[in-house]
Amino acid sequence: MSVTGKQLIGGEWHTGDSGSYQAINPATGEKLAPELSFASEEQLRAATAAAAAAAPIFAAISPQDRSRFLETCADEIMALGDELLDRVSAETGYPRARAEGERGRTCGQLRMFAKHLVKGDYLDARIDIALPDRQPMPRPDIRFCKHPIGPVVVFGSSNFPLAFSAAGGDTASALAAGCPVIVKSHNSHPGSGELVAQALARAAKQCNMPAGVISFLAGNRNEIGVNLVTAPEVKAVGFTGSTRGGMALYKLASNRPDPIPFFGEMGSINPLVVLPEVLKTSAAAIAEGFVGSLTLGTGQFCVNPGLVLGLKGPELNTFMEATGAALADKPAGVMLNQAVAEGYASGAAHLSDQPGVRQVSTGKAQETDAGFCGRAYLYAVNAEDFITNPALQEEVFGPCSLVVECRDTDELSQVISSLSGQLTGTLHGTEAELADAKELVRLLEQRVGRVVFNNFPTGVEVTDAMMHGGPFPAATDSRFTSVGTAAIDRFIRPVCYQNSPQDLLPPALRNDNPWGLKRLVNGEWQDGQI
Ligand code: NAP
Repeated sequence: MSVTGKQLIGGEWHTGDSGSYQAINPATGEKLAPELSFASEEQLRAATAAAAAAAPIFAAISPQDRSRFLETCADEIMALGDELLDRVSAETGYPRARAEGERGRTCGQLRMFAKHLVKGDYLDARIDIALPDRQPMPRPDIRFCKHPIGPVVVFGSSNFPLAFSAAGGDTASALAAGCPVIVKSHNSHPGSGELVAQALARAAKQCNMPAGVISFLAGNRNEIGVNLVTAPEVKAVGFTGSTRGGMALYKLASNRPDPIPFFGEMGSINPLVVLPEVLKTSAAAIAEGFVGSLTLGTGQFCVNPGLVLGLKGPELNTFMEATGAALADKPAGVMLNQAVAEGYASGAAHLSDQPGVRQVSTGKAQETDAGFCGRAYLYAVNAEDFITNPALQEEVFGPCSLVVECRDTDELSQVISSLSGQLTGTLHGTEAELADAKELVRLLEQRVGRVVFNNFPTGVEVTDAMMHGGPFPAATDSRFTSVGTAAIDRFIRPVCYQNSPQDLLPPALRNDNPWGLKRLVNGEWQDGQI
C-alpha cells in the first residue's frame, strides 16, 4: 500500500517508460521518496484504449452494482489510513486536520453519488407513447433518456490533493454516470494521487468492474495533457485548475476534428460586498470572518474572497482598519509548491504596481528560508481605477485581497457590472439593507454561480443543491456545476428511441419500469408501469 511511482493502465500497475521525478515537500523544499515515473505516449495510448474497451461494459452495469463500486472506493480510501494522510501533508504542507477533512469530503461525495445514481432521476426518462390515430399523421413512439458519454479525462488542482484529484468530484461524478476515467496525476501531489488510485483499482477488482474503468497516469506537464485531451477515445474532460491551463486545454478539446465537451473549473476573485449599515455594528466581526476566509489554507482556494466592494466612508475605513489589524498578526503560510508561491508573490506585486492601488496591510513575512511560503496582503483602490483596469480582476492565488471604494450605490452597481464571471458573490448587510439590495442581487446573479448572504464563500458544501461553477472565466461552461449531485449531468448525453421494440430499450424506458423510476409520460410525471 505504499507509493510506487507506477502508472495504472488497464487494471495493472507499470513503471512509466518516460523518465522519473520526485515529489517535493513545500514546507521544507526537500524531495520526497520514492522516485516516481512518467508514462510514455505508448502507455498513454494503452490506457485510453483500455478505457474505450471498458466503456460499453461499464455503461451496461446496473446502477446498484455501480453504486456498490463507489461505496467500495470510499471504503478503500478510508482503509489507506495514516499513510494517505501523512503523504497528503508531506506533499501539500496541509495540517493533518485539513487532510482528514478533505478525505471526509472525498469519501462523502463518492457515497453521495452512490446513493444518487440508484434513484435514477439523473437519467431524465421521458416517454411519448405512439398516437396511431393522430391526424393528419400518426405519431410514432418516442422515448428519451441519458447515457454515459464515454471515457473522461480528469485533471485535478494542486490545492485539493483529494477532493479535486484521483477520486475527487470529477471522477466520482463520471464513474456515477457510467464513464471510465483516466486521471492525469497532479505533479504537486503525485503520491497522494497514486495511493487513492490504488484504492480505486482495488475497489474495481473487488466489484468485478472492467479493467480499464480507472487509469492513473503521470507525465511531463504539457505533453501528457495535450495527448490525453486529443486522444480519439476520450469523450469529455473534467478540469480543475488555473485559467491559463484550463484555456490551453479547452482550446485543444474544441479544435479536435471531433470536438468534445471540456468542463473547466478555473480561477475566481469572488467579490464580497459590505454595505455600510451592517459595518456600523459588525465591522469587527465581519473583518474577523473575512480574514479567516481569506487566509484559510494560505488563501489557496478558488472561492477565496479576493475582492471587497464597499461604499467610501468611515464604516469602510473601520472595516479596513480591523481587517488590517487582524492580518498583521497572521504568519506567512506554506504554499503548495514553488510555482504557486512564486506566482503568488509576482501576482501580488503586479497588483500593487497598478495605478491607484495602495497597500492597506500585510501579514507577517516568512521567518525562515526553508520551503515555499506566502504572506497576506490587503490593498485598496478607487472604483474608477478598478473599472478601467482589467489587470485588477486577475486572480492572485493566495491570501491577497483588494478593497474597491465606491462613491455611492450607483458606482457599486457599475463595479459589479464590470466584473467578469465568478464562482461566488457575497453580500453583507442588515435585514433592511438586504431588503433594498434586490438590484445588487440581480446584478450578482448574472455574474456568479453562487450568491452568499452574510456568510463567507470558502467551505463549499457538497449537497444536491450546490452550484460550483459560473460564467466564464470562472468556468468554461456556466450551465454546469462541478460539486454536488448535479455534477453528473456533465458526463451524460441524451439518446432517443423511435418505435423501438421493448427488448431493445434501456431498462429506464421499458413499459414495465424495472427500476421503478419517476418518468415523464405523455407530459405527466408518473412512477408506475405503462
Ligand atoms: P494548474 O497549474 O492549471 O494545473 C492543473 C492541472 O492541469 C495540472 O495537472 C497541470 O499539470 C495541468 N496543466 C496546467 N496547464 C497545462 C497545460 N498548458 N497543458 C497541459 N496540462 C496543463 O492549476 P493548479 O496550480 O493545480 O491549481 C490552482 C488553480 O486552480 C487556481 O487558479 C485555483 O483558483 C484553481 N482552482 C479552481 C477550482 C474550481 O473549482 N473552480 C478549485 C480548485 C482550484 P501539472 O501537474 O504538470 O502541473
